[in-house]
Amino acid sequence: MKLFRYGPAGQEKPGVLLKNGKMVDASPACSTYNGDFFSQDGFHTLEQWVEQAGDQAPEIPPDVRIGAPIERPGKIICIGLNYADHARESGMEPPAEPVLFFKATTSYCGPNDDCVIPPGSEKTDWEVELAVVVGKSLSRVSEAEAEAGIAGYMVMNDYSERAWQLERGGQWVKGKSADTFAPCGPYLVTPDEIPDVNDLNLWLEVNGERLQDGNTRELIFNIPHILSYLSQFMTLEPGDVISTGTPPGVGLGLNPPRYLKEGDVVRLGIDHLGEQQQTLVQG
Ligand code: ZN
Repeated sequence: MKLFRYGPAGQEKPGVLLKNGKMVDASPACSTYNGDFFSQDGFHTLEQWVEQAGDQAPEIPPDVRIGAPIERPGKIICIGLNYADHARESGMEPPAEPVLFFKATTSYCGPNDDCVIPPGSEKTDWEVELAVVVGKSLSRVSEAEAEAGIAGYMVMNDYSERAWQLERGGQWVKGKSADTFAPCGPYLVTPDEIPDVNDLNLWLEVNGERLQDGNTRELIFNIPHILSYLSQFMTLEPGDVISTGTPPGVGLGLNPPRYLKEGDVVRLGIDHLGEQQQTLVQG
């Protein structure tokens, strides 16, 4: 299934993209998509409702805002340098173990919301990423158990302020956490809809110029390994978001480096997961 939420920020309603391409309101089947929805087998209830009533459900208006597909997560965990080529362009060795960092959950937003360049930022950069949504509580699990605990996948842009990430001391989290720095969606796509998660093209364009063009087959650490690995250090909860790293082509890696400015338009997408677009505005 492809799930989305729509409406004004903070008041989103649940929706489903039907097989026939219609985007319909799913409020009769559930109140929202969050950790409770996943842990209480909400997918099953929703699937039954779609079969019985989906065709008669009202279509959502075409100009409505699309929100992030699930409610604000308890954690946003990111994997750094997880594509060998990107590690090289960043001037760093491919890591022996996954590199972890967090993004503040307040950075979370809808897929097409404006991205706000934080006041004082001179190095706001882009990163198209495949994000995983956790469907079950996972603590010290095997890779097989981790894979069975995935609710679905979505597109995420891991916006990054490079000076704050790399030149201010301490942890990367400073450069990763500004408001609007984690647009997610448009859809949460369940694993059964994706033929091979290790063979997905992911791309990103700035003002129509393609700058990132990667494939998940280049991941250094694959998704079950990442989830199992994370679960040795912390409990992953339903609704948590794990972003799996970015392929080459970020602004930091260009020669000379290139960063975003007011008015720039960033478009990005991943096979089977849809596309998002942000306009940069000055905060
Ligand atoms: Zn990233």
